[in-house]
Amino acid sequence: MLTYTSTQVSPTLATRLRSMPKVEIHVHLEGAIDAQTVYSMAQRNQVTLPVASFEEWKSFYQFRDFPHFIEVYRAASQCMQTPEDFAEMAEQFLKNQSQQNIRYSEAYFSPALHHGKLSNDELLDALAVGAATGEDKYGSRVRFIADISREFSELQSQVLDFALKGQEKGIVIGFGIGGPETGYPPENYTETFAKARSQGLRVVAHAGETEGPPSIWGALNSLQAERIGHGVRCLEDAVLVETLRQKQTPLEVSPQSNYCLSIVSPDQPHPIRQMLDAGLYCTLNSDDPPMFSTDLNNEYLTLAGQEFSWEELWQLNLNTLEATFLGEGEKNLYRAEWQAFLQNL
Ligand SMILES: [Zn+2]
Repeated sequence: MLTYTSTQVSPTLATRLRSMPKVEIHVHLEGAIDAQTVYSMAQRNQVTLPVASFEEWKSFYQFRDFPHFIEVYRAASQCMQTPEDFAEMAEQFLKNQSQQNIRYSEAYFSPALHHGKLSNDELLDALAVGAATGEDKYGSRVRFIADISREFSELQSQVLDFALKGQEKGIVIGFGIGGPETGYPPENYTETFAKARSQGLRVVAHAGETEGPPSIWGALNSLQAERIGHGVRCLEDAVLVETLRQKQTPLEVSPQSNYCLSIVSPDQPHPIRQMLDAGLYCTLNSDDPPMFSTDLNNEYLTLAGQEFSWEELWQLNLNTLEATFLGEGEKNLYRAEWQAFLQNL
């Protein structure tokens, strides 16, 4: 994939970025599973894929354009059927995260994509089993953010039920909205978000990616989102930038996703530089890694290739940790680990 690069990353910096402990707060479980695993699920669940072979599936999985991305996402989600599939997804996700030294993740999960397959209890128990096995084996943890798929807004109260049940079981920490932003403004979800907040769920919203500032204003004012997924188009509205700066609302920035989906032109540096210069609170994330041929390491390397210094990249890593929905006690454990890494450099 062609992405703007203005400088060569030194091997020392690349190694340091790979080995530093990290967290990730904007990554979709369904979008983080590799082509091979999804293909195996399709075979064992006898799901018909729009391809004739694994080779074709691998190339189908590669990003082409937005409609194709949606097609891949839907096809992949249909392959995920049984409790074993969902447990495997959570476990494999933690394996991949641990290989990048990602110690903790808050991963989006979209129950509407799996509507009618399993009960909420079955789905949540399967995710919990996979998450616990993965944590034991790989030492990396995950908590989920149940995400309303905007285009299935009729299912929003069912997604809330899922989130509340998951909160009781200790594996769901937050509530969000994702999916196509155009035609589905945040205001459509105001009541459901109010209920989620009143039950103690932390709330986030994808906004300011394919739509401009009104979508982010809606996420802030109607949904009272504590973090914004992407948010890069806030730069089009100076008053909004000032509001986000004053509130220090964390923005979940995913450069490679923005390049793939043409939110940012490949011949331009990513606007995260302007966002930081404006005093905004940015975090760094991979969104749907195998579908965008990326991972969190690669996101740090991308910015290193755009003249971000080690100190700036480390600060983004600290920002991401501080923006998690973990309690102070848990954050302190990670803060200590981060400091120990710095001292051993
Ligand atoms: Zn996303």
